[in-house]
Amino acid sequence: MKRPYKIRHEFVEFVPRVREAGVLYVSIPYATAVHDCFCGCGTKVVTPISPVGWQLTFDGESVSLSPSVGNWSFACRSHYFIRMDIVVWAGDMSEDEIAWGRMRDKAAREGHFGGHVEPLASPKAEVAKTKSRGFWSWLTGGR
Ligand SMILES: [Zn+2]
Repeated sequence: MKRPYKIRHEFVEFVPRVREAGVLYVSIPYATAVHDCFCGCGTKVVTPISPVGWQLTFDGESVSLSPSVGNWSFACRSHYFIRMDIVVWAGDMSEDEIAWGRMRDKAAREGHFGGHVEPLASPKAEVAKTKSRGFWSWLTGGR
């Protein structure tokens, strides 16, 4: 397992074509964060910031990205969290967990962009919450 390491964040309007390694570029106007995969393979990783994408937290000094970044489709298949400008490596996910995560993401996205929003208190939403809790606490280490 790789060691956690410190990265840098940079608030930009446009993400530069040539990016520095170890920098998370954040464009607030475009609600997007971009970085070159922090495993060092250099693959461009785009994380759209939205209610169903990633959420970015800026505490005045450092940024955190949630949920984790899972580069399943890259050769490196790296999986990490960005917490307060620090890359924290997560364990390998099994194929099942990857499939489940994708399904959940897809459902969330369709729900969001399809213009159909479940009321929060509906039983269906409660079930979805319960179902995803295991996955979520696995991701966040039981937080
Ligand atoms: Zn990589």
